[in-house]
Amino acid sequence: MANLNISNMTKSYGNTVAVDDVSFEVKDGEMLTLLGPSGCGKTTTLRVVAGLEKPEGGEVYLGDRLLCSIEKRVIVPPNKRGMGMVFQSYAVWPHMTIFENIAFPLKLQKLPMARIKEMVTQVLALVGLQDIEENRGATLLSGGQQQRVALARALVFTPEVLLLDEPLSNLDAKLRAQMRLELKSLQQRIGITCIFVTHDQLEAMVLSDRLAVMNHGKIEQLGTPRELYETPKSKFVVDFIGQANHLSGEALEDSSGGKCLVRTTKTETKTEGEVLHGVALENISQGREVTLLIRPEDITLHRQHPGERINLLSAKVKIVSYLGDQMHYVLSLGDETLDVFTPPSQKLGPWDTVFVELDPKALWVWAA
Ligand code: ATP
Repeated sequence: MANLNISNMTKSYGNTVAVDDVSFEVKDGEMLTLLGPSGCGKTTTLRVVAGLEKPEGGEVYLGDRLLCSIEKRVIVPPNKRGMGMVFQSYAVWPHMTIFENIAFPLKLQKLPMARIKEMVTQVLALVGLQDIEENRGATLLSGGQQQRVALARALVFTPEVLLLDEPLSNLDAKLRAQMRLELKSLQQRIGITCIFVTHDQLEAMVLSDRLAVMNHGKIEQLGTPRELYETPKSKFVVDFIGQANHLSGEALEDSSGGKCLVRTTKTETKTEGEVLHGVALENISQGREVTLLIRPEDITLHRQHPGERINLLSAKVKIVSYLGDQMHYVLSLGDETLDVFTPPSQKLGPWDTVFVELDPKALWVWAA
């Protein structure tokens, strides 16, 4: 087993640069997710790694084995890369039985039938289909079972790397959540190196050891789910990983050591505005218009004035939603709104005035 290394990969279609000088490493046994909006280049990246697309530049190494380099004129064909692939459309062959679907690539290799049977039985057990009738037609299976057959077919060769392109998106929400956990447990059990492609943020957070957020063919940030959620490096990452409130303001001084003082006029009571302490994620000079981002769960609401605190604003409750495990409040601050999640024990009604405390460590400031 070995690390998978992608360096300076570029792939265009006509004038569209689908993958723009992308580099990353997937460690041995790691589940790395490529996450991003539609068209950001996730699938193309995966297809280049699989050998299904020829890039214009860059290299792919699996350990010290060079799989692709335009410069060195090396392109190892997909079936010689030691990679299994599962796509969104299960690609289970409808005219074949479960056994035939999984055995097909083994038969092409002319393995003895006894060995094929043994391998198919083992891999069916691996994906939780040990009790299924192997001679059943593949289309007579539920969506989740078909996806398991596709997974079994990708794993039957015991590949070194598993590439998964939105494999769960055709499943209904409940099954998808279940398969997500099963997939993670399977990947950890067999310790296979894995690249997973999705545009679903929650799926990426649940499954990944690390994830790479892609935008316009580039990686915006790569890190653990916690790193990306707690220390995002760009506005795009904040918005894509979770939910964030946007407020406007003005820098009161040059940012220094990551700290930034901002005045916001968005408050229900004071006309001169309030001074807020935040974290500048870039250099900001005095007088700059800024955008403040804060997540709904980094805001505390007080019914009474809590005394001397920094980052305290007054607001009015506009909408109250009881969600069972939490409350969702929409507040108005001048002409801006703020989404806040609190424990269900916090009971506020529409038009109540509240004091809003913004966590200074989680109030991120960018030039507008
Ligand atoms: P999605 O989540 O919708 O699958 P993605 O992030 O996987 O999107 P890609 O499929 O990699 O994105 O596409 C990246 C860009 O390259 C898009 O602008 C897409 O239209 C373009 N593209 C992808 N494949 C082709 C192709 N075969 N021919 C022309 N353009 C393509």
